[in-house]
Amino acid sequence: MARADFQTLPGTRDILEPDAGRVRRLVAVFAEAAAEAGFGQIVPPMFEDVGVFVRLGEATDVVAKELYAFTDKGGRDIALRPEFTASVCRSFAQNRPTTPWKTWYAGPNFRYDKPQKGRYRQFDQVGAEVIGSDDPDVDTELIALAWRFYQRLGLSDVTLLVNTLGDFAERPVYLDALRAHLEANADALSDQARSTMALNPLRVLDSKRREDAPVVAGAPLITDFLSDDAAAAWDRVQAGLDALDIPYQVAPRLVRGLDYYTRTTFEFTSSALDAAQNAVGGGGRYDGLVAALGGPEEPGAGFALGVDRTLLACEAEAVFGPDGDPVDVWVVATTAGTEGLQLVEELRNAGIRADRAYDGRSMKAQMKRADRSGAAVALIVGDDEIAAGTVSLKKLRSEAQGGQATQVPVERDRVVDRVNQVLSESPL
Ligand code: AMP
Repeated sequence: MARADFQTLPGTRDILEPDAGRVRRLVAVFAEAAAEAGFGQIVPPMFEDVGVFVRLGEATDVVAKELYAFTDKGGRDIALRPEFTASVCRSFAQNRPTTPWKTWYAGPNFRYDKPQKGRYRQFDQVGAEVIGSDDPDVDTELIALAWRFYQRLGLSDVTLLVNTLGDFAERPVYLDALRAHLEANADALSDQARSTMALNPLRVLDSKRREDAPVVAGAPLITDFLSDDAAAAWDRVQAGLDALDIPYQVAPRLVRGLDYYTRTTFEFTSSALDAAQNAVGGGGRYDGLVAALGGPEEPGAGFALGVDRTLLACEAEAVFGPDGDPVDVWVVATTAGTEGLQLVEELRNAGIRADRAYDGRSMKAQMKRADRSGAAVALIVGDDEIAAGTVSLKKLRSEAQGGQATQVPVERDRVVDRVNQVLSESPL
């Protein structure tokens, strides 16, 4: 086959059926769970003033390396969103909804990442944020919402990792201790870790390089530096997870990629995925972010779950049932007139899924197509039927079940009723 003139760009792909149907289902499961927990939806724009994202922290990879930023025709510096949280905080500062504001979202993000399986330049997330409460139960409920989502999808290889990063007040003291430790051991660190250390020492704790492991293992822990308030909140989150029977592992070196986190941070990993891309979602508390975006001093917490990777995890765990959304009725029309066209429209208007072949195929070819379509019923209109004022109805699946697939005439103006009757007798 000749190569098409254009191909999708690196890190992007067409999501076709059955994956597209699976994505729809996954988003629907999340939307339902979020609504049950009192969240309303937000649909923010896909691009914003670049400043909205730059304030996430100039040293974060998402901002420093991966932002799709450009100047538009009006001379504005804008960026495609790399995540939703900044947009949600910007929206809060702009619209000032009553607090606590609980909102969920679903949609694409853009990061100039190194493409590989499970890592794309356009990828979807679902997520939820709560702005205006620093109650640690909010953190627990957010984790519970994400957990419920994974459970409802039927995933069992998902692990919850939790940590606390303390408050901004204690962070400088901790960072000094961490920096001192890293500098004292700089010779043993990878080049990568040494350059990260200068910019953002916390991120060194995230290093997946084997040579960094001993230094990271010996690094001071933030939990030894917590203020009383932050320690009490951390205890409360763990007690909440225990009370809800949500299994978790405390991961004292979990810092996550974005600078804005305070107190609780968490990540969900799937052991069904390759280790390099096994994070299916994550989140945490970000008590300074709304103010950093020019809003009031309101605390916030939230999470985002990667739809593409969750899909890969679902595939790896084989949790999906049979795919496909076959139509109910396949219309076979061999007349020269508009009977086939009218019949499918009549069925569709009555809420019955219907399809047909085009291009004036032969009766035999159309019947073959009908059999392959997965429809429960074929409706056949030929010249004989027109003359008799009828349509022939044939059950398609009874053949496969060993029954007799007879064709029965149905009065033309009773077709919808008869089809509904047959469909209710043989549910899909
Ligand atoms: P983050 O906003 O970086 O915390 O990401 C939250 C989740 O989004 C991750 O756990 C991944 O599942 C997913 N994710 C982040 N970046 C990508 C990417 N480039 N491609 C696919 N999924 C991603």
